[in-house]
Amino acid sequence: MGATYRGRFAPSPTGPLHAGSLLAALASWLDARAHGGQWLVRIEDVDTPRCIAGGGEFILHQLASVGLVPDEPPVWQSQRNHLYRQALDTLIAAGDAYPCACSRKDIAQALAQMGAGKARNGELIYPGTCRHGLQGREGRAWRLRTDAHSFKPKSPLAHISTAPLAPDFIANVNDDGLWTWHDRRLGEQQQDLAREVGDFVLLRADGLWAYQLAVVVDDADQGITHIVRGEDLADNTVRQIALQVALGLPAVRYLHTPLVLGANGEKLSKQNGAAALDLSDPDTTLASAAAALGLSATAGDRASALSAWTAEWRSRYGI
Ligand code: GLU
Repeated sequence: MGATYRGRFAPSPTGPLHAGSLLAALASWLDARAHGGQWLVRIEDVDTPRCIAGGGEFILHQLASVGLVPDEPPVWQSQRNHLYRQALDTLIAAGDAYPCACSRKDIAQALAQMGAGKARNGELIYPGTCRHGLQGREGRAWRLRTDAHSFKPKSPLAHISTAPLAPDFIANVNDDGLWTWHDRRLGEQQQDLAREVGDFVLLRADGLWAYQLAVVVDDADQGITHIVRGEDLADNTVRQIALQVALGLPAVRYLHTPLVLGANGEKLSKQNGAAALDLSDPDTTLASAAAALGLSATAGDRASALSAWTAEWRSRYGI
């Protein structure tokens, strides 16, 4: 299996890494090493208004300071527009994507009329207004059709990974549109994509590529076999699997890590002002991330700590 494992850490350069993002970086690094695989870094700078100048370079410097160095040169999403365009064109040609003229206000009004609420993560569930045409309005964004019908010819979703997937790792969608997928830490997960999320955005009204499309295209293009990232992203996984299926891309295995909580009990994030990593003592910073992952404290230098944590990780996840 080692030869085929390719994992990645995919930070958005909207600010420096903090304790929460280092945990995801370390977990993905340990999983790659535990499998004898490769570990890549991708700078997810598609949402340009939220990115800070020099943010990607600084993150790479932070990673290197704690000893996490990618096995290949990092990839920057801002240089890969042509790949996202190609993928969107494929989806449009297949009838899986359609233009949407709705503003947030339009969507909120349509939902209110239907007496419908928001998704669990607080986002508006798209009610499908433009699925059957723009009715003379001007298209602003592009969305993926998520109704079970559009996946029907392709289900069960035996989309095959470059690393063979055990049957219970293969996602599936039933006739009612309920998706089931497997997470290596959280176990079996389910989401009714059409009802809980709705047709989601691929190309935004402001002309920027949506995270969902860019991440799926890049993971496939880079041959990623295993995704290890924070649990706050678990809710996106069905959207990403649906896109893999629609684009005929390989399946990936997922492991979502615990989140680091701040003093207020909320997830640490750049938005709520999490402090940048303390690089004055990188070994202690790295050891805190390992402790947050529940790994044992180690004596000795950084290299021996990393190899002890890799062994512990391997036994925990049965690799
Ligand atoms: N760029 C995303 C973030 O920083 C993570 C993407 C991923 O790991 O799938 O939240």
